Amino acid sequence: MRKFTLNEKIINLKPYDPICGEYRIRLDANESFITPDDEMNKKIAETITASSINRYPDPYATDVCKLFAGYCGVSPENVVAGNGSDEIISILMASFFSRGDKIAVFAPDFSMYQFYAGLADMETVIIQKGEDMRIDIDTAVDRINAENIKGVILSNPCSPTSIGIPATQIIKLAQKTNALVVIDEAYMEFYHESVIGMLHEYENLVVLKTCSKAFGLAGIRLGFALAGEPVINALKAVKSPYNVSLLTQCAAKVILSDTEKIKQNIQTIKKARDFLYNGIKNMEGGQLLQVFPTDTNFVFVKARDSRQIYEEMKKNGIAIRLIGDYLRITAGTQEENTAFLDTLKKIVSTNL
Ligand SMILES: *Cc1c(COP(=O)(O)O)cnc(C)c1O
Repeated sequence: MRKFTLNEKIINLKPYDPICGEYRIRLDANESFITPDDEMNKKIAETITASSINRYPDPYATDVCKLFAGYCGVSPENVVAGNGSDEIISILMASFFSRGDKIAVFAPDFSMYQFYAGLADMETVIIQKGEDMRIDIDTAVDRINAENIKGVILSNPCSPTSIGIPATQIIKLAQKTNALVVIDEAYMEFYHESVIGMLHEYENLVVLKTCSKAFGLAGIRLGFALAGEPVINALKAVKSPYNVSLLTQCAAKVILSDTEKIKQNIQTIKKARDFLYNGIKNMEGGQLLQVFPTDTNFVFVKARDSRQIYEEMKKNGIAIRLIGDYLRITAGTQEENTAFLDTLKKIVSTNL
């Protein structure tokens, strides 16, 4: 028998472990709570039936990219599709940098940035956020330049903090550094400070989008990178050939063709978000130390004992996310949000 050992960067990794099991109410993954209506589902089924699943899909998801480019107001040459934006983050880290290159991430922010940077043997420079969870962009710019940092990636608005930064601030990163600046706009539909309109001015700027949140398509796994042509062509060259499945392309074509419906759904989600936020905000003080303002479809909360609230919610069949000392709660339907708020009220009033 030959000996084989896993290399040290993966030997201690554990498979991703989202909340599993049966929950009455799922407010843990920032998905949309809106399901496609019967007519949409029928159209998706028809589109699949009319295509040949014995054949490989279009390697560049051309139709889907065209639709998404139209939605974003850019040219299709500036768009590449991925198997979720997660795949694109992974490809960027693995191919756009060299071993030992430094990449700046902020903390807290989306945990996958650091994960993929580590797998790519990059050195992660962590810029800690303050108590208010805001970023001082000028300080970040200075640090990137002083420490020869090759890339910077952040979500705007941020998951998990739910806070957005104005585009005029964000763009300084691309303007004043030579780093590859990756802005993950997974939640921008809820905030409207996108830098997509400035892509043609900055060759070092990449915007990531996902269909998993505002578009209600987490199940099909579809994300995009938007950038200047050199970056997009490089991404097309390094990605795996058939990374977006035929079924995904079929469903996306149907959903992305109806931009009116998408906009309506975003408004519906924002209303639900406001309802949830106001309900939680009303309980601030005592157990709930801080309820952060939200520019997303979820609410970020610091509680005196976040774990206890998380566990109590679980016992009541409600899944939310526990992130360090904080809780992240996704906006759900009116009934789900009401059930969450009722349960939260009980928990905080018995623990004052
Ligand atoms: C959910 C999320 C993603 C992941 O998107 P997928 O397209 O589902 O892989 C990326 N970035 C942020 C900040 C997210 O919250």
